[in-house]
Amino acid sequence: MIAENLALVQGNIAAALQRTGQTGQDTALIAVSKTKPVSMILEAYEQGIRDFGENKVQELTDKYEQLPKDIRWHMIGHLQRNKVKYLIGRTVLIHSVDSLRLAEEINREAGKRNTHMDILIEVNAAGEESKFGVRPDAALCLITEIAKLPYVHIKGLMTIAPDTQDPEENRKYFRCLKQLAVDITRKNVDNVSMHVLSMGMTNDYVVAVEEGSSYVRVGTGIFGGRNLNV
Ligand SMILES: *Cc1c(COP(=O)(O)O)cnc(C)c1O
Repeated sequence: MIAENLALVQGNIAAALQRTGQTGQDTALIAVSKTKPVSMILEAYEQGIRDFGENKVQELTDKYEQLPKDIRWHMIGHLQRNKVKYLIGRTVLIHSVDSLRLAEEINREAGKRNTHMDILIEVNAAGEESKFGVRPDAALCLITEIAKLPYVHIKGLMTIAPDTQDPEENRKYFRCLKQLAVDITRKNVDNVSMHVLSMGMTNDYVVAVEEGSSYVRVGTGIFGGRNLNV
């Protein structure tokens, strides 16, 4: 089942890229494996998937220990400062940075280990009360501050679009994220790159790819539904 699901998702991504003339472009697929067992992750791994996403630090580090070391782990969930230390060296990209204090903690822990950490700034594009993320109009200020931290490298933006029946409704939020990245790029802030856009989930990844996503984060569409509402 996982192999067929992956083939379907990858086919849809390739078709969306082609349809919108993004040839030579690449949208990487992150298989969101939260709540799913190691055995299912290995099934996806055997199909060539190397990027996996988790939203809890404990679960990510447990799976990290048990699975091949060439897996690229992505932290996509809300992150508490006291857990940051467990992620350094185990994760390639933290998608969910939305405060200076969190970025400062990442900077401190990465610095201690003489390394750096790549991050994305999470943007609450739709302004939903229930969501984490910085408001679009506050993103530049936050990024300017975080950019001063030597062991943190901002690579782009991430958003979680609203849960909607019709993915077309989220197109405007993906466009907003892209435009925000363009606007911030124009400001030429040192130590900031805006190349990565992490946007699109099972429901809306095709629309996100059409709008220039670099990483789609697909869980249900690969591994099936989750019991817990996480
Ligand atoms: C769970 C989760 C996903 C994947 O959601 P699906 O709808 O199952 O594809 C993507 N991004 C984040 C931040 C998540 O927490």
